Amino acid sequence: MNAAVSTAPASPHVMNTYGRLPIAMSHGRGLRVWDVNGKEYLDALAGIAVNTLGHGHPRLVKALQDQIANMIHCCNYYHVPGQEALAQMLVERSGMSNVFFCSTGLEANEAALKLARKYGHDKGIERPEIVVYEKAFHGRSIATLSATGNPKVQAGFGPLVEGFVRVPANDIAALKKATEGNPNVVAVFFETIQGEGGINPMRVEYLQQLRQLCDQRDWLMMIDEVQCGMGRTGKWFAHQWAGIVPDVMPLAKGLGSGVPIGAVVAGPKAANIFQPGNHGTTFGGNPLAMRAGVETIRIMEDEELLANAARVGQHLLTRLSTALLGKPGVKEVRGQGLMIGIELTKPCGVITQRAADAGLLLSVTADNVIRLVPALIISMAEADEILGKLLPLIDAFLAE
Ligand SMILES: *Cc1c(COP(=O)(O)O)cnc(C)c1O
Repeated sequence: MNAAVSTAPASPHVMNTYGRLPIAMSHGRGLRVWDVNGKEYLDALAGIAVNTLGHGHPRLVKALQDQIANMIHCCNYYHVPGQEALAQMLVERSGMSNVFFCSTGLEANEAALKLARKYGHDKGIERPEIVVYEKAFHGRSIATLSATGNPKVQAGFGPLVEGFVRVPANDIAALKKATEGNPNVVAVFFETIQGEGGINPMRVEYLQQLRQLCDQRDWLMMIDEVQCGMGRTGKWFAHQWAGIVPDVMPLAKGLGSGVPIGAVVAGPKAANIFQPGNHGTTFGGNPLAMRAGVETIRIMEDEELLANAARVGQHLLTRLSTALLGKPGVKEVRGQGLMIGIELTKPCGVITQRAADAGLLLSVTADNVIRLVPALIISMAEADEILGKLLPLIDAFLAE
């Protein structure tokens, strides 16, 4: 979502849907990436929080090669043993009940929205409504862009899907007011830490109040952990910092360490809503994606990557705060683990190109937030290398 950055000449054959940098990538190893001209980059973006294990992790490569030779796809007319293996791992680590597999984040969110609507219909609510948030990002399908709180994402694609009530984050009174006397509300749907919206965390107390309210009103608590989940914040799922358990949790991005995969994890309240025929997808749960998920989690545990994300993330946050807070033009440095945002007071999309020139990959989101979401294998030395490249760029930008 780097709409502000300069673009390479559009390809005649690829649709012009992204503001791309004029760089073509070739290959990667660990935290490093090389372009087709041989220029080396330090990767603090990880394919937008996707490459959990960095690039070319030898154990993942070997497992995927083995899986490709064995079977890539067989479809859901049959049982897929990898689905059971990965579902069990996700259920154990989330404290939830069961899983539906798909291939992307928006698909996981679509499934969550369908779950919420059917949950309502099963209770006799004919026009169910779902609470969503300002600045939220849930994807680019018609339903998920309707749930998204960014007018730029919605522009040109109306009519939007109805049945959403929008509220500001971290304000329980505003939520109560917006839903007062409305018997059609069936769920609240939010990101623990908004990603595309600018690395905006929900506060721990708010999450706990929300859990309580959902229980009182029999609403599903649905947490989009597509970006903040899978260990990025130092726990398996970002909401676990608040000691709560959601009823529905879409996952994607980091789950397959680069292989397309999505999942919706459901707790007891949502585990039996879908019956045969209610939902499905051709690629969902294919053996290759399942192997990627299983192997990603195994490697994360063997290499203690949750602890690493927490430790290196804290180091980055502390160093960035010390270097930047109080400087004119710097609004806030925030985040948790390896999901960090540096909010400036003016649009700074130009920094993505300058960083790339300096051999550093990152993104700017919500116009004025520099986003760092590196792979969870990042070392302290690599974190310092990122700081060494990034801080002078920010200083130069602030001085303009
Ligand atoms: C990226 C993202 C999505 C959309 O995922 P896609 O795989 O691009 O469809 C949804 N929600 C959040 C929080 C995301 O960060």
